[in-house]
Amino acid sequence: MTYGKRITWLEERKKSKTVCTNKKNRIVLFDMDGTLTPPRQSFDTNLLQPLRELSQHTQIGIVTGSDVEYVNQQMEYVLKKSELVYCLHLLPCNGTKWYPPPRQLDDWYDIKHNADMRETLGEEKYRHLVAILLDLQCHVSALGIPLTGEFIQYRGSMINWCPIGRAAKSKDREQFVLKDEKLSIRKNYLKRLERKLSLNGIQKDIACTLGGDTSFDIYPIGWDKTYALRHFEDYDVWFVGDRCGENGNDKQIYDALYSKGRSYKTTGIEKTKEIIKALVGHFASLESTDG
Ligand SMILES: [Mg+2]
Repeated sequence: MTYGKRITWLEERKKSKTVCTNKKNRIVLFDMDGTLTPPRQSFDTNLLQPLRELSQHTQIGIVTGSDVEYVNQQMEYVLKKSELVYCLHLLPCNGTKWYPPPRQLDDWYDIKHNADMRETLGEEKYRHLVAILLDLQCHVSALGIPLTGEFIQYRGSMINWCPIGRAAKSKDREQFVLKDEKLSIRKNYLKRLERKLSLNGIQKDIACTLGGDTSFDIYPIGWDKTYALRHFEDYDVWFVGDRCGENGNDKQIYDALYSKGRSYKTTGIEKTKEIIKALVGHFASLESTDG
C-alpha cells in the first residue's frame, strides 16, 4: 500500500464517529468466506452495523485459510472505512499469521507472528509433498475441469492446492463446484493425497482439509484454525464459521470450542447476522449481571 493511499484511508476512518476502545479479554473469531463474505467476494456491508454493535462488547478476529492479500481485498471496505479495525485482529493462513489491531488512529497493521511450514517440516518432507501435489494436479486436470493458473500456492505456513487454479473466475468456480458435487472430486482426491502421504511416510506430519469451495489446505499437523487460539490463551473465545462438518476447514476450531457452547455454524450472511445479534444479547446480559 502506498503512503498516499494510506493517508486517504486514514481520513476516511477518522470520519467514523466512534473509535473502538474495547479492552476486554474476549474475542469472537469469524471465518471469512461464506461467513462474512460470499466465497471469494467482498465483505457484505449489511454486516457492518451488527459488527459495530458487537465491537462494543468484544474484540473481533477474522481467521481464514486465505492469505493476507485476500483479506485485504475482500475486507477492503472495513479496513478502509471503518473504526472496526481498532478491535479487529487479522489471522490469515489459519492464524499462523497474526496481525493485531492498530493501537492508535495513525497506526497500521503490523505482523506479530508468522509461522514457517518449510522450516517446521524440513526440506526433504516438504519436497515430497510438493512432488505429490504436482503429480495429483496432472491427474485431476484430465477430468475436464476448468484450468487457469496458480494451482499450488505456497503461503509460508500452508499450501493451498486449487485444482482449477487460484486465478479462476466465478464462472470457472461455479462450473467446478457443480462437477465436484456430482463426482466428489475433492473428496476422492483428498483420500488419494492422504494415501500418497502415507506411502511416503509423511502422513503423521501433514494435515489436509478441503479449503473453501474449490481447493485444499495442507499444513503441518495442528496448524488448522485452532492455531489461532494460541494467540488468545487468556481470552474467552467464540467462533463463527460455515464449514464445520467433516473435512471442512472450520471443523477443528468449531469442535475445540463446542463443549463451552462457544461455536456457531452459519449458512451465509443472513445467518451470520442472526448469530451476531444473539452474541450481542448474550454479552449485554453478561455485562448487566457483572454490574
Ligand atoms: Mg468458510
